[in-house]
Amino acid sequence: MYNFLIVGCGFAGAVLAERLAEEGKKVLIIDKRNHIGGNAYDYYNEEGILVHKYGPHIFHTNSEEVFRYLSRFTEWRPYEHRVLGSVDGCLVPIPINLTTINKLYGVNLSSDEVTEFLEARCENRKPVLTSEDVVVNAVGKELYEKFFKGYTKKQWDLDPSELDASVTARVPTRTNCDDRYFTDTFQAMPKHGYTAMFTKMLSHPNISIMLQTDFRDIVELIPFERIIYTGPIDCYFDYCYGKLPYRSIDFRFETLHQETYQPTGTVNYPMSNLYTRITEFKYLTGQKSDKTTLVYEYPTAEGDPYYPIPRKQNQEIYNQYKKLAEETENVYFTGRLGTYKYYNMDQVVAQSLALFRKIMKSEVHV
Ligand code: FAD
Ligand code: UDP
Repeated sequence: MYNFLIVGCGFAGAVLAERLAEEGKKVLIIDKRNHIGGNAYDYYNEEGILVHKYGPHIFHTNSEEVFRYLSRFTEWRPYEHRVLGSVDGCLVPIPINLTTINKLYGVNLSSDEVTEFLEARCENRKPVLTSEDVVVNAVGKELYEKFFKGYTKKQWDLDPSELDASVTARVPTRTNCDDRYFTDTFQAMPKHGYTAMFTKMLSHPNISIMLQTDFRDIVELIPFERIIYTGPIDCYFDYCYGKLPYRSIDFRFETLHQETYQPTGTVNYPMSNLYTRITEFKYLTGQKSDKTTLVYEYPTAEGDPYYPIPRKQNQEIYNQYKKLAEETENVYFTGRLGTYKYYNMDQVVAQSLALFRKIMKSEVHV
């Protein structure tokens, strides 16, 4: 008899498995894929380069609790991600910063002058409801069109005016020269990769792992007390309120027999090509090799559910499932798919640590 059946071996499932196992619970964690790690899974490809199977995963967090927790299972390699955008034939920093404006417009403005430059161009939309509002409020229509409109259309197949403000609000605007993609306090990559970290998290005698196992196929066969479900919530409930929309991506990998390909970890293509960005893994991992592997991301409607799509009508469908979930005894939902939230890895870890505390607290009161 297992105390918990955990569905999904990504961050959400692995954190709960590890925490509950430490408390003496017997845990069975399953995944329909043939590996642990969920979307953060990495592996060495045939050319010996460490790559991320489901697109580039860069760890960053402001949460000391999350960073400390994960540090039990991995050492870290400090890494600050930098992104360039291919715009008007130039490679310029994204997020838009002082250097971006100076390079794009062939000027030499100071930080104060660039503030004035943007103030003269930005609009003042109130309330800020959509992803278009966020950007035109910060930089105006022209830069919005160069950097956000086309990229967003490719990524989501929606105009920014059709997406919640939270989506483009992930990318700030800066008037200084800071060209880091993230400004979080902790920015580092697991020294030996994500899969090695997950292997350590899950190597507890109270944890059993079953891969290539779909929840549906075993739920009637295995005795357990409670479920933690990190797959798509709509699937759990047999789509009774209709399908929740997700965005998927086709990842195209390419290995070149040269040391490097591009000048930084990721280059975005907001105005051209069918792919949104190219990432070169060696920048992220620090690996040394005379070969290099790139991944091109082609967004698509079909395929694995990678991105919940933040917009009002989808949130309304999710709220119905959430209510049903709250009424369903002994089943907990967590993670990016289980709660239909556009969460980064650290947010999923924080969410699952919070759920763990809630579960333990509920036991004290029984
Ligand atoms: P997942 O990792 O998706 O795990 C869920 C698991 O459940 C999957 O392995 C799935 O196979 C399994 N499952 C589903 N249904 C069933 C079933 N019926 N039976 C058995 N198993 C099932 N975050 C960052 O912090 N930084 C980044 O740079 C970053 N880059 C990203 C790039 C891309 C292209 C994508 C798609 C995401 C990125 N993320 C990034 C987000 C990150 O991937 C997620 O926050 C995190 O992986 C979510 O973990 P999870 O456990 O909730 O879900
Ligand atoms: N975005 C954009 N242009 C860019 C970078 C981002 O329009 O050059 C928008 C786009 O809608 C994207 C969102 O901002 O989906 C969030 O970007 P982020 O890099 O955080 O996306 P993720 O890494 O999660 O795919």
